[in-house]
Amino acid sequence: MTGGLAYDLDAIMTYLRMQEESGRIGALSVSRRVAPSSSLARPSASTWSSSAPPRAPARWDFRWKTCVMPSTSVCPSASGSSTDTRSRGDRPVGYSPWPCGQQTEGYGNADQRSTSSSSLTGQVERLIAADNFYGRRLREADITGCDSVEDFVRLPFSQKQDLRDAYPLGLAAVPEEKIVRIHSSSGTTGTPVIVPYTAKDVDDWAIQFARCYEFAGCTATDRIQITPGYGLWTAGIGFQAGAEKLGAMAIPMGPGNTEKQLQFMVDMQSTVLCATSSYALLLAEKVGELGLRDKIALKHGVIGSERWGEKTRRRIKDGLGIDLFDIYGLTEVYGPGIGINCRYETGMHIWDDFVYLEIVDPETGEPVPDGEWGEICITTLVKEGAPLIRFRTHDLSRIIPGECPCGSRYPRIDTISGRSDDMFKIHGVNVFPRQVEEVLALFPQLSSEYQIRLSHLEGKDTMRIYVETDGTQDFRDIADAVAEETKSRIGLTPLVKVVELGVLPRSEKKTKRVFDERYE
Ligand SMILES: [Zn+2]
Repeated sequence: MTGGLAYDLDAIMTYLRMQEESGRIGALSVSRRVAPSSSLARPSASTWSSSAPPRAPARWDFRWKTCVMPSTSVCPSASGSSTDTRSRGDRPVGYSPWPCGQQTEGYGNADQRSTSSSSLTGQVERLIAADNFYGRRLREADITGCDSVEDFVRLPFSQKQDLRDAYPLGLAAVPEEKIVRIHSSSGTTGTPVIVPYTAKDVDDWAIQFARCYEFAGCTATDRIQITPGYGLWTAGIGFQAGAEKLGAMAIPMGPGNTEKQLQFMVDMQSTVLCATSSYALLLAEKVGELGLRDKIALKHGVIGSERWGEKTRRRIKDGLGIDLFDIYGLTEVYGPGIGINCRYETGMHIWDDFVYLEIVDPETGEPVPDGEWGEICITTLVKEGAPLIRFRTHDLSRIIPGECPCGSRYPRIDTISGRSDDMFKIHGVNVFPRQVEEVLALFPQLSSEYQIRLSHLEGKDTMRIYVETDGTQDFRDIADAVAEETKSRIGLTPLVKVVELGVLPRSEKKTKRVFDERYE
């Protein structure tokens, strides 16, 4: 197997069942794992053995067990080998795109990554040979292969506009007889992007989505109520294919018709809700209004990744009595389901055996070190219909360094903090509005409104932050405290202007908060 961990789930499950029957993987049984000594919240008692707390909930066995499959992608000279004891339950040590310590900043630690260099190289080579938009582009750029980090970072980025230019079917990298389906991203801002899928792509997506459900604690006995839309968009059908791959019961409601949603939620005793955060909130409120809380059986919510606040999260959790899981993905790269948070809620694990993810500086395109914020840039590894190389998503996040308490070595990214279009740079520091919001959230005496004004005064860039307060505290004290906190968290000292409640403009639409007056 040289194509990374792109595996056939059914074959693996059969293999595992055989192994299980022969007693060969008993040692991997979750009940024998040792719990981490961390103080982080544990999963609910029902998933833990009372005598010996396991390291991960039993239902994650699926993924742990898949990893007993032998891997041939480990560099023999890397530390450890495929027989390294640490590789038994999860990723082998030294498994990275370019093992032997060749990875540079931003590529993750060797033991954090499971992307294989052969799959990355293979994907690029297939594209160069393909008679499609991408193949021509790579050939024009004199790219003949990709065997190292140096080669990889020389590959040109692709932007949404490039994909639009390939409309309608210029992204197809295989003959038409292999294409079984297309999806399309929204065309509200111009020509739509058409993404062709082969049968394998469709199946790979379902495998990734099934993994998401597994991470959310779902099993074959769950009843999954799917409220995202079906159609050209990749949402509904992805949620459904993953549910079916898992063996659960999909209830394909589609969006809207809240009354019927609630009727099915009660009568079918749905256990999992798939929704956008706004629709989940609406359903939670309706459940409360109609007094249905005791009549529903929901346990988990799998929520499409959009930026949503802690307050919304809490209301959905409490209103429906469920755990919440954020899912990540985009139409250009399969669709939702290329990653999800685990129950420790320490960021979203990304399936890096299917996609290779870089975080780059939105301005320079240079990879940033792990832990630093930047733009997510995705390379598909085994996609056939429409592979993508270094696709700039404009979504802002960061790679979370270190290991997750759940024990999974799938790398984690933070919750999407916004779009790179919202970012500004001052004194060489990239600042995202969300970082400022996080500082302001520490001060309960401030309202939720704020404004950032950037200006160029007396030869230097200045950041002013306008905040509102109710007047119960001295304006000067608040200004000093906010400036100090901003300095310690973001690394630069702003001028903080405190104004009275109601002074800053309100908008029913999206409020403009950042005004860059430096170059006007
Ligand atoms: Zn985790």
